[in-house]
Amino acid sequence: MDLIERHRRVLPSWLSLYYDEPIELDRGEGCWVWDAHGERYLDCFGGILTTSVGHNVPEIVSAISDQAARVIHSSTLYLNRPMIELAERLAKASGIPDAKVFFTTSGTEANDAALLLATAALGSNQVFALRNSYHGRSFTEIAVTGNRTWSPTSYSPLSVSWLQGGSRLRGPLAGLSDAEYVARGVADLEDALLTTTAGRVAALIAEPIQGVGGFCLPPDGYFGELWRVTQREGILWISDEVQTGFGRTGEHFWGYEAHGITPDLITFAKGVGNGMSLAGVIGRAEVMDALGTNSISTFGGSPITAAAGVATFDYIIDHDLMANARARGAELREGLDAIARSTPAIGEVRGKGLMQGVELVWPGTVEPAPELATRALEAARREGVLIGKGGLHGNVLRIAPPMTISAEQIEHALEAFRRSFADQAFHVK
Ligand code: PLP
Repeated sequence: MDLIERHRRVLPSWLSLYYDEPIELDRGEGCWVWDAHGERYLDCFGGILTTSVGHNVPEIVSAISDQAARVIHSSTLYLNRPMIELAERLAKASGIPDAKVFFTTSGTEANDAALLLATAALGSNQVFALRNSYHGRSFTEIAVTGNRTWSPTSYSPLSVSWLQGGSRLRGPLAGLSDAEYVARGVADLEDALLTTTAGRVAALIAEPIQGVGGFCLPPDGYFGELWRVTQREGILWISDEVQTGFGRTGEHFWGYEAHGITPDLITFAKGVGNGMSLAGVIGRAEVMDALGTNSISTFGGSPITAAAGVATFDYIIDHDLMANARARGAELREGLDAIARSTPAIGEVRGKGLMQGVELVWPGTVEPAPELATRALEAARREGVLIGKGGLHGNVLRIAPPMTISAEQIEHALEAFRRSFADQAFHVK
């Protein structure tokens, strides 16, 4: 029995696999990966924005193996030097005064912890979330995920009110100017406060760029206007930086910084440990201490994952990868915009830095074309480039390589995309 069949037999059907013939990654080097048949690919998805500084980077590998040779595990019942060192770095970088950090093993659990802390601190289970969001796959995170393909149940431990978010290509946000978008969003929040809540709301959770939602982003400064209202009402702001953190947008270390706000809580995961199961929450001390009960974490911030986190953090800073994300992101965007101008099936290119989305539509319309997205994903794979897919309708290509990608590798990817989009399917109705 081959590996695909064995996978399907023992893993749940909702764990979706990419590609007609799924890939087994065998090894990696920088931005390159090789499959089990020896086929080489340029990794332009970084394992879902996770391999932030590339594959098999000596500094990260030795941090992990040195730590493994000393002690792999220590629960939160003991002092954990790598965890403390990483917490100090993240607290300092967070922009939150008096920040404290709690480590988890996934983004889902990080958001669970943030919502638990916020609801405990404010004594309310009411929260605001944005339409088209994705915050994870636990019971709590499904409740604040505004996308029914990822949200199989409406049962919720939280009382959730929905605020505007999502694509500006179609639907209620289509055609709005930035100023109209902001004004409508603020009015929506004020109205939701009066009509959908009992007055005491614990938190608003939002991604600065909606990742799984297809790299949809509001105008810069939008969250600042919402934040003024949440500040007035004493509502905590949770910035889900699972995809936007660590300089990937090329502008700022965190995505929230484009909006001139200071969140009360920041959640992080994915890129923080360059692929290790490391995630967590950074927050104001008062909120972080609000749990008021005893608790432990068996695996969160274990020495081996935290050592990877320290090495990854230092690598990002020492190599100024935010500047590389800005420069390479601009080249990528310019190339994608040029392809879009001659490809009627590309409805929109959007994103920031090394987080660029390409939304596919049926030529001549703004109707989502998930079949074309799948076709483009397969074509890019045949051209030797791995990318991702997302969006409410599954029609957005997501391009998010490791932040170490070079100018030559960006050109290599663009050349592959040019060949992929030459297919007539992207040009005729
Ligand atoms: N938050 C965001 C913005 C995400 O994109 C994801 C995962 O894609 C999560 C939370 C959940 O993270 P994890 O898959 O590590 O549980």
